[in-house]
Amino acid sequence: MGGSSERRNRVNRLKRLILTVITAAIIIPIIICIILGFRVCRLQTRVNELEALLTSNETEAEEKESVYTVAPVRESSRDTLKGEKNPENVSGDEEQKTKPENYQKQVYLTFDDGPSRNTDRILDILKEYDVKATFFVVGKTDENSVRAYQRIVDEGHTLGMHSYSHKYDEIYESKESFVEDMDRLQEYLYQTTGIWSRFYRFPGGSSNTVSKVDMQELISYFNECGITYYDWNISSGDAASAQISVDSLVDNCVNGIEGKNVCMILMHDSSAKNNTVEALPKIIERIQSRGDAEILPISDDTVPIQHITAE
Ligand SMILES: [Zn+2]
Repeated sequence: MGGSSERRNRVNRLKRLILTVITAAIIIPIIICIILGFRVCRLQTRVNELEALLTSNETEAEEKESVYTVAPVRESSRDTLKGEKNPENVSGDEEQKTKPENYQKQVYLTFDDGPSRNTDRILDILKEYDVKATFFVVGKTDENSVRAYQRIVDEGHTLGMHSYSHKYDEIYESKESFVEDMDRLQEYLYQTTGIWSRFYRFPGGSSNTVSKVDMQELISYFNECGITYYDWNISSGDAASAQISVDSLVDNCVNGIEGKNVCMILMHDSSAKNNTVEALPKIIERIQSRGDAEILPISDDTVPIQHITAE
């Protein structure tokens, strides 16, 4: 009797042990899976954020560099005095402010790197303020981008080129690769919108420090084929940091206008740069409220702002 109950107890203990092991073997992997699942989710979100930043930042790190290390800016009509103290304008200043045809300053809002998820928002704001701007675009073939190119054109903005690939190492590898890339974009924009763009903004600016090709060679090429390139003399600061505050963006643009007649403002149309969109209405309002500045799209009449010019 004693022996069989002991055996039963042992069997029961064994059963419990086996059951515990089986339960553990099921539950532990499930818990691990749940924990890992959460971590994967978190990491995926982080990856998405970083990817969005990367699309603009990897190249704009170089653009940023060129913003702060540019050669002297050439302006054909630069003032050395503050706008209001312009000698030509000392008398009749008030009168001038009320006459739209006598705007002392021409301000050009330029957006690089689009189309992006923000293009429509930018266009909506420009429409609301009845302001025309310039978009230096890259080559994108998705449906939204194709629609964006067309909307830029339809709403009276200037469609400029900013290279098809925006890959510095490819574009600036040789003159041939540069020309091939530009031709591809020019042709593509023509097929897409019917516009044969004559305006170009070099990725990184004409004063970029990454080109393996002598920039003079590219500038001569532009002269031969009737393309004008435009750098900038005011940087909104959105290339330097995707997280720049709205107030800083507005201040950079508005303060940059002082002392200049031709104001070429560099901004970016990029999915990661929401603050540029947030700042845009304030930038426009502040410029318009000056009374001496007119916001225009780049045209054949626009004085080119160029960091380096043909030798
Ligand atoms: Zn760019």
